Amino acid sequence: MKSKQTKNMNLENGVARGQSAATCCMDGVPVKHYLSMGFGVNSVALYFLLMDQGVEFEAIYVDHGADSPETAKYVKLFCDKYPVTILKPDAGTREGVRFDNLYDYCHFKKIIPSVKHRWCTDRFKVRVVHKYVDKPCWMHIGIDAGEAKRAKISTTKGIEHRWVLIENGIDREGCKKLIADHGLPVPRKSGCWFCPYQTDAQLRILRREHPDLICKLRTLEKRVSEKIGRPFGIKEKPIDAVLMEKQGNLWPDMDYPPCECGL
Ligand code: SF4
Repeated sequence: MKSKQTKNMNLENGVARGQSAATCCMDGVPVKHYLSMGFGVNSVALYFLLMDQGVEFEAIYVDHGADSPETAKYVKLFCDKYPVTILKPDAGTREGVRFDNLYDYCHFKKIIPSVKHRWCTDRFKVRVVHKYVDKPCWMHIGIDAGEAKRAKISTTKGIEHRWVLIENGIDREGCKKLIADHGLPVPRKSGCWFCPYQTDAQLRILRREHPDLICKLRTLEKRVSEKIGRPFGIKEKPIDAVLMEKQGNLWPDMDYPPCECGL
């Protein structure tokens, strides 16, 4: 819980250095380039592509404290080597309490991110970025050539989207190669550990690797259920129901049952 937005910068102003600035104007006026990073494969690859193309840009990451432990670890690994501006959310409540952590906010409000109302992205990511950037600006978005249909033209409040991976025909495999060529491991899919968009299989992996987080998720479901007066589950069924299903796949080696010949 925090009352002020903070900004931590890694290296000089969070701007990738040692590059010559590519000329890219809006209505003839040079504008700043930003790269919005979630620290999944695409945004990391896009970082390296922009760097290799000599674009001077500022990479931004919103740390809302609820990304998966694997993503948090990768952010640290990356930011130790490359400049990234780290922003913190500052979400207020009617009760006058402010939060920079998405889980703490949910716990306090007795709510949970939902596939029906995607308020979490807006409150804890988009608004934070929009508040921070100088406008007008270019905002680079990590959508690769294999998922070009997801790219949407946006001119929201002077923020123009750019999709350089698509412009250069770089697909998912190309992204992985770019990252490997720069000597870093390929990151896992990024996202919050209690994201309702996760598959049941991903939640079972979470149970295996981070049982403590499953306890926190259970607590959240309990609080929401108490608030609304009926059972509530992150996946339209409680987390325990998700975990009880297909228990045979709980451990990786269970995909290959042991020989039962008795020898
Ligand atoms: S990853 Fe999921 S829970 Fe996290 S902000 Fe995005 S939609 Fe919400």
